[in-house]
Amino acid sequence: MNFLEERIVKDGIVKEGNVLKVDSFLNHQMDIRLFDQIGEEFKKRFEGTPINKILTIEASGIGIACVAARQFDVPVIFAKKSKSINIEGEVYVAEVESFTHKCKNQVIVSKKFLNPDDNVLIIDDFLANGCALQGLISIVTSAGANVAGIGIVIEKGFQTGGQIIRNLGYHLESLAIVDGMDTATGKIVFREQ
Ligand code: 5GP
Repeated sequence: MNFLEERIVKDGIVKEGNVLKVDSFLNHQMDIRLFDQIGEEFKKRFEGTPINKILTIEASGIGIACVAARQFDVPVIFAKKSKSINIEGEVYVAEVESFTHKCKNQVIVSKKFLNPDDNVLIIDDFLANGCALQGLISIVTSAGANVAGIGIVIEKGFQTGGQIIRNLGYHLESLAIVDGMDTATGKIVFREQ
């Protein structure tokens, strides 16, 4: 088990509805020493890949993206959730259905911050059905920029997102892939990587 899998086993809680709760160290209370290790691991996994920007989505991706950005020495952009239906031409827009909140959000990024010559690393905390990632990918491609890679902290491999994104040909690196989890026993099974 790697450092992250060990922490998930120690402090993760398996909830009903295929939700893994990791709010004691990842997306509510945040363990910044762990984040540093996550950032270093992303840096290793994308070694040699040209990356000049990191893109994530609010809110849970922001902390991880910022710590990772110190390793890559690049700025972070986060896609903002926006409820307004009529957003005028200054922003790239994508529709994202929230896995945890079961609602649809428009997410936006200002056109000022993404250009055709950008090599973008997309980072997020979780990958479930891939809706958040597909939204972020569509924003990068709308800007004519390149998706240089995708870094995920926890992929739930028993949901469809990982396979969809890999089949599209993207370089996706997930630091822990959960292949199964049991609500009754709390047991979590990781994919060998
Ligand atoms: P997707 O769009 O891939 O279906 O879901 C990804 C998003 O949903 C992530 O940005 C994350 O915030 C949230 N998410 C999905 N599954 C889980 C989960 O098991 N636990 C937590 N805490 N968040 C999740």
